[in-house]
This record gives sequence, C-alpha cells and structure tokens, in this order.
Amino acid sequence: MELRKDPITRSWVMTGDDAGEPSPRNESTCLFCSDSSLQVIATAPNTPGASWSARSLVHPRPLYHIEGEPGRRGDGIYDRMHSVGAHEVLVENPRHDRHLWNASDDEIAQFLRLAAERILDLKRDPRIKYVSLFKDYGKNAGQDFSHPTSQITATMFVPRRVLYELRAGREYFVSKERCVFCDIIQQEERQAQRVIEARGDYLAIGPYAPRVPYESWILPRNHEASFERTGLNKPGLRTNLAALLRRTLQRIRTVTEEFHLVLHTSPSSLHPSKNLGYWKTIDEDYHWHIEILPVLTSKARSYTFKEVYYSPVSSETAVKQLREAKIEG
Ligand SMILES: [Zn+2]
Ligand SMILES: [Zn+2]
Ligand SMILES: [Zn+2]
Repeated sequence: MELRKDPITRSWVMTGDDAGEPSPRNESTCLFCSDSSLQVIATAPNTPGASWSARSLVHPRPLYHIEGEPGRRGDGIYDRMHSVGAHEVLVENPRHDRHLWNASDDEIAQFLRLAAERILDLKRDPRIKYVSLFKDYGKNAGQDFSHPTSQITATMFVPRRVLYELRAGREYFVSKERCVFCDIIQQEERQAQRVIEARGDYLAIGPYAPRVPYESWILPRNHEASFERTGLNKPGLRTNLAALLRRTLQRIRTVTEEFHLVLHTSPSSLHPSKNLGYWKTIDEDYHWHIEILPVLTSKARSYTFKEVYYSPVSSETAVKQLREAKIEG
C-alpha cells in the first residue's frame, strides 16, 4: 500500500492491491484480554483490581509503519509516498464489556488522558504532521476488534476533512478575527435548537448541516485549539468531558449501536509548512472537537451517494429525540 495525492483536492489516499490479510474477526480468544505478545507503548495508572486502566499498543496489522523513510517523490504532476507514520490501538478499558457508554466517568477520563499523552508524544516526532484518534463501532462501521478499543494514526500529512476545517477556520479568522467554532457555539447556545446537552465546559450539539442522521459534535465551550492540552492539564474538565461523551453515546445508542467517532485537534506545530501557513494563527482559529457519525443502515442512501451528503432526519428533529432519550444516567 502507498499514499497518493489527488492533485485537484490535494488530499492523500491510501491505495494499492491489498494482499488480503486474515480477518481478525475469526479470533477465538480476545487479543487484548489475554496478555498477548502485543507491544505495549504506554499505560495509564492502575484501577482497583487491574494492573492498568487504559493502554496503547502497536496495531497488530498497522497501516502506517514507524520505520523507514517516506520517500516522497513526484511522478509527473503526481505525488506519492510510503505509508510511514504510526498506528496504535488504544485499549479503553481492561474489561471486555466496559465501553465508553457503560464505563465509569473515571475510567473514561483515564482513557482520555492516555489519548492526550499519546497524541502529545507522537507530535514530538518532527516528521509527523497530524495525529488522528478514531473509533469505529459495529460491523457496518468497520469495527476491527471486539474489545473496547480506539485507534490512533500519526501521519506525515493532514487528513482531508481536517485540512478543509483548517483552511476554513483560517479564512473565517482572516475576515472576522474570530474562531468559527466559537461563533457556532454562541449561536447554538443562544438559539437552543440543536443543543443536546451542556455539561460544565463542554457542549454536545447536532451540527446545522449534518452529514448523516443524528450526527453529534462535542466541543469545549471555551476556545482551545488542542485537545491534548486540555486532556492533560485539567482533570476536572476531563471528568466532565468523560460524562458528556458517555451520555451522548448512550443517547445515540437509543437510535443505533453503530457509529464512527473521530477527534479533530490542531496539527503538529513542529512541522510548519511554507505554502499553507495556518499555524501562525492556529491557536486562535482552530477549535478541537469530537464528531460522532452514527451508522443507520435503514437510511443507507447517505452512504452510497457521497457527492452530496443526504441526511433524511433534520438536525432539529434528531437533537430533540436525543435530548429526550431515556438514558441510564
Ligand atoms: Zn477482550
Ligand atoms: Zn474557538
Ligand atoms: Zn471536525
């Protein structure tokens, strides 16, 4: 597999002829419950009855490899490079049945802290431009492992959606000298039509123009470009975020069990690029957030027709339903 850049949208894609590795779903024993030979990178502090509360491991079938040179090269008008970077599995909980929606806020906060540590650590590698944290849950979402896990990839490029957000955030800032996300938060809190829940310094909302039904975002109410800064420095904030994440997932699970979750945080500032130049104002114009995209197979048109997102449940209706959903607490 290699990375190729679309010269028109300037987004990188991973492509090649996959050899078709054995499917992980046939495993009879859980890789993460049995103390396997997987390489542990970092561990979060102990919880009673377990030697660790969350930990990160090298992905058993990594998409990106830390060794080697990217070998970025031109091919006429095209650009390509090897998939150099990092790919880790974040085990959210030692217990196989404790997910982000039924674990304790403390356990989820430990996971968030480990995630922040890993992002910060990977950003110290000057080759790395961006670190993504994501979770795919459910067969139709492309779930990898049955154990509660998220994944981290560290790449030498900024993923497409984040690049769009960074460009848009910078343009908005140039004309208004304000953060577009802060303005969204202000208007949403004022209008109160698409607010799912506010908890301490965090807000869960349905975006004005959802890509899929019941799409939900979690954002800090106060401006902050990087998740890892909040995630590491303020334990009280982390607990509020854990509770809001847990409760939002519970609400979504009243509609569907399957979802994609992705954390969007600022890119690495160690890797300044001459042509984009967004980091001069990045701390002011970007605002980290979590996006949750539920997978509803019954509304599958939104997934087969991607040129224009088609979301046959309005954000206002979705938010009303999520807000009123009966959740465990
Ligand atoms: Zn397990
Ligand atoms: Zn902001
Ligand atoms: Zn985003």
